[in-house]
Amino acid sequence: MYMNFVMYVHPSDLRLANTRRVYRALLVAGRSSRADLARRTGLSAVTTGKVVDQLIQAGLLEEVEPDQAPPPPAAVGEPQPGSGVRSVSPQAPATMGRPPRVVCLSRRGRFVAIELGARECTLTSLSLAGVSDQASFATVPSPKKAEQFLDAVRPLRAKICAEQPLAVLVSVPGVLDDRQNRVLFSPNLHWTEGAELLPALGSIWQAPVVAVQEVQSLALGHQAQGNSPESFLLIEFTDGVGGAVVTNGRLLESPFPLSGEIGHIRVPTVQRKCGCGGEGCLETLAGRPGLIESFREHARKPRATWTDFVAHTKANGVEPWLKETIDATGMIIAGAVNLLGLREIVAIGELPSMHPDVMRLMEESVRRHALCARFAQVNCRAAPKRRVLGLVAAATDRVLLPEPSLVMSRAAGA
Ligand SMILES: [Zn+2]
Repeated sequence: MYMNFVMYVHPSDLRLANTRRVYRALLVAGRSSRADLARRTGLSAVTTGKVVDQLIQAGLLEEVEPDQAPPPPAAVGEPQPGSGVRSVSPQAPATMGRPPRVVCLSRRGRFVAIELGARECTLTSLSLAGVSDQASFATVPSPKKAEQFLDAVRPLRAKICAEQPLAVLVSVPGVLDDRQNRVLFSPNLHWTEGAELLPALGSIWQAPVVAVQEVQSLALGHQAQGNSPESFLLIEFTDGVGGAVVTNGRLLESPFPLSGEIGHIRVPTVQRKCGCGGEGCLETLAGRPGLIESFREHARKPRATWTDFVAHTKANGVEPWLKETIDATGMIIAGAVNLLGLREIVAIGELPSMHPDVMRLMEESVRRHALCARFAQVNCRAAPKRRVLGLVAAATDRVLLPEPSLVMSRAAGA
């Protein structure tokens, strides 16, 4: 049924841009009346109506009674720190008679979503709106070899998604060439490296693969939720520290498929070995294992766990050693700010949400070290993880509503 849509796409950039705008507005809102969609997208009521009708015909949207429509998609499986909960615009007020019908993304289409992680990998089936089907959810421990992973995933094929999905979405750590679906280098998951893994995952479900570098997927998700700045640097603090750069609404295009690797910038005073083979990289300090190691040293508790560290920081605030780590992070961010001319920093992950002082100190450090802070505002803000939304947004652009030049090749794979 989706082939119809690919057939419909007219090689007009404007028409495609309008269609994506309507589709993305619905991705954020979950459901919307046509009038509300026109307001959200800034398109005329006539244009919005045409686009909606065509998307319904193509099987990507459906029209439902307001009480049947799904709620706005939360990023299922992703913990949401307090801020940034997606807002739902009020439905059109009920007037005389029946409330107007609303449109939502089709509840029939599915994606498979796979998140490759250093400790475990998660797999689930998603609706077009990015809502995970909890019954399909599975985890596989991160293996030593790609073949072990594929052997573990193949028997789960039907549990995760019995039908042929529209695409297999894969969040990939490390350095990804997403045009070739090839992992060039992965400091913490060497088993994912090479050109075999991603196509093999696609062939399990006979579907095209949409691979997105994991921090870039967060940046796309942050952007897709609708009120992000046009340009920003996003940094994720988890086992590693990664970055992604969005300028003028698009992920930074670099001539070599590597950008945003802020976690592998050297902190001169640090001698710890990094998974990349280097020494003293920022992530050996500000990544989760590095933070635990520092906490154990300073608290003189060699067996302290991450939970101990989090509880200690919540109770006692940011201690001097952690302040130094945050300052080192801020200095490196200031370097990126100086080079790229960005003034909005978005921080995601466990460290930014651990204590309110973390982001305050990070912002102070960036302001102290960044040139533009001498005459302009620089903001550092914590934000929730929206990786699933980012993967779905990437699938929209690459598979569902691709650029005209990609229509034929993508259609062939769909
Ligand atoms: Zn490194």
